[in-house]
Amino acid sequence: MSAPLLEVRNLTKFFPVRAGVFLRKVGDVHAVDDVSFTLHRGETLGLVGESGCGKSTVGKTILNLLRPTAGQVLFEGRDLGTLSHAEWRAVRRDIQIVFQDPMESLNARHTVGQILEEPFVIHKLGTPEERNIWARDLLERVGLPRSAVSRFPHEFSGGQRQRIGIARAIALKPKLIICDEAVSALDVSVRAQIVNLLLELQHDMELALLFIAHDLSVVRHVSNEVAVMYLGRIVERASSNEIYDQPCHPYTRALVSAIPLPDPGRERDRIVLEGDVPSPIEPPSGCRFHTRCAHAERVCAEKTPEWETVTPWQQVACHRWRELRGEIQD
Ligand code: SF4
Repeated sequence: MSAPLLEVRNLTKFFPVRAGVFLRKVGDVHAVDDVSFTLHRGETLGLVGESGCGKSTVGKTILNLLRPTAGQVLFEGRDLGTLSHAEWRAVRRDIQIVFQDPMESLNARHTVGQILEEPFVIHKLGTPEERNIWARDLLERVGLPRSAVSRFPHEFSGGQRQRIGIARAIALKPKLIICDEAVSALDVSVRAQIVNLLLELQHDMELALLFIAHDLSVVRHVSNEVAVMYLGRIVERASSNEIYDQPCHPYTRALVSAIPLPDPGRERDRIVLEGDVPSPIEPPSGCRFHTRCAHAERVCAEKTPEWETVTPWQQVACHRWRELRGEIQD
């Protein structure tokens, strides 16, 4: 297999917690802890978990919007943590992000034309006339009229604004787009249109997508591979088929059980997780899921589960996955 486009190795991001008059550090928020994965050109990795599990922090750390506490991010084999400012500027053309709320990321006082021309201005590409044509081309590429260049973001619907966000993200012909809850706030039908647009662009541009979402059903049709995060750690990673057809980790099973079946007459046995997600300031010992897991035993609180291989396309971090899988199949 070819070398990965993106390789995240043991990525860790802690945020200091400060208190008192002198704002002394009293602890750390363990937002991301020892996260590793790879992503190949033209493929999609879905990164899924409840809100606050650290998945968006992973995306922001890859983009250097946050400095990692430990670990490495390699893009085309280069360690992004060692790049100079000028080198980063060049790499930033290849890695773009689409956020959940385009209203927050699109400058409301700028016209759509100015918003779409901005990446070319920053990277000193083209003449004003060329940039204007490129902005119109981008609008057409994402299914909006070329005349939209003279309008403002607030004049568009949520789905159309997300198209503008995607147009800006593809302006510099990137190799990787991080979609951070990019379709989560949209209606189901609009969501499907935006997902289809992303898949079309992925096909045409050989784009890699890191698709961050809190809901497994959102990433189901876009991902080649899915990684499930819980409280800062990945607990299971597998090809899309494996994760939906035979989830191994109890947390993944609970997420899969919440996905509605296409047949309205049938329902899954829903696994409802008890209790709240524990604080990431003092995450539980051993397996972080043990405070909510119906299958937890003593070892789960005492020892962090190692990665185990279920199939060549599926790995899980759970002490009891073999027994639990047996129980399900019996
Ligand atoms: Fe549950 Fe134990 Fe597996 Fe964690 S290691 S998911 S607590 S069975």
